[in-house]
Amino acid sequence: MTAEIIDGKALSFELKEKMKQEVADLKTVGIHPQLTVVLVGDHPASRSYVNGKKKACDETGIGSRIIELPKTVSESELLAHIHTLNNDPQVHGILVQLPLPDHISEQMVIETISPEKDVDGFHPVSIGRMMTGMDTFLSCTPYGIITMLRSKNIPIEGKHAVVIGRSNIVGKPVAQLLINEDATVTTCHSKTKHLHQYTQTADILVVAVGKAHAIDASYIKEGATVIDVGINRLEDGSLTGDVDFQSVKEKAAYLTPVPRGVGPMTITMLLKNTIKAAKGLENREG
Ligand code: NDP
Repeated sequence: MTAEIIDGKALSFELKEKMKQEVADLKTVGIHPQLTVVLVGDHPASRSYVNGKKKACDETGIGSRIIELPKTVSESELLAHIHTLNNDPQVHGILVQLPLPDHISEQMVIETISPEKDVDGFHPVSIGRMMTGMDTFLSCTPYGIITMLRSKNIPIEGKHAVVIGRSNIVGKPVAQLLINEDATVTTCHSKTKHLHQYTQTADILVVAVGKAHAIDASYIKEGATVIDVGINRLEDGSLTGDVDFQSVKEKAAYLTPVPRGVGPMTITMLLKNTIKAAKGLENREG
């Protein structure tokens, strides 16, 4: 079997074309969706992620602003910026690029962002709403993964989904979203014994480990759907996933590549959340 590749870049392009129209329609009724990104310090990877988000906003007509703060900024100064953005009716979405310098509590920052503007979906209110199946901002990477599965009509209900990784931004929320979609879910992590035993029974395997090529074909059930979330930089500067693409593609039914997989979908779902925030806030004001 050779896997069908789920092209996240192509799907993102398609979704962005639809969003472009949606944003244009909103503008005709006076709603101008706007995302503000706060970048602390000058970490090259963070800067590149922030630039990618700005570019995607530009492509769809969403207004964007980057607030750059020095890495020496105090926690209270950063929180004051967030309060100002929370109270600015022109700002619909707020995103503070992580990681932050050690002297700033990420949790405090996340909790200070108004849940109505939490387009990253990291606020405990957003997470609680997701857990209870309520309408909310879904965190972007898990939301992108579910969107990729749906785009290929891959059945989720009643399937065994295995998630490797239990981070707050990927592993845990994707497991919860799969439960919400009626999958039977197993979450594995670094303390899991006999990982193969779980992965070999997975109809859907989501890999968010952060180790290049950690998962090869021996972990895969024939005909499984494999979602590779990992982004690892190799010594030659190229990017690669957590999955050994070459071997797994001969065994899986569906497989996401790296790059052009989950990465572009993450940014695209951020745009979707920003449009949702703009609609929600305007609705409340109306
Ligand atoms: P974390 O480092 O926070 O989490 C990694 C998880 O993998 C942990 O739960 C850890 O277990 C588990 N793990 C580590 N080693 C093993 C192992 N040998 N066997 C089983 N489980 C293991 O990473 P993130 O969740 O933030 O990110 C994961 C990957 O996804 C990274 O490569 C990151 O760059 C990428 N990423 C990609 C995004 C995208 O848009 N495509 C967005 C976000 C992240 P334990 O909890 O026990 O330590």
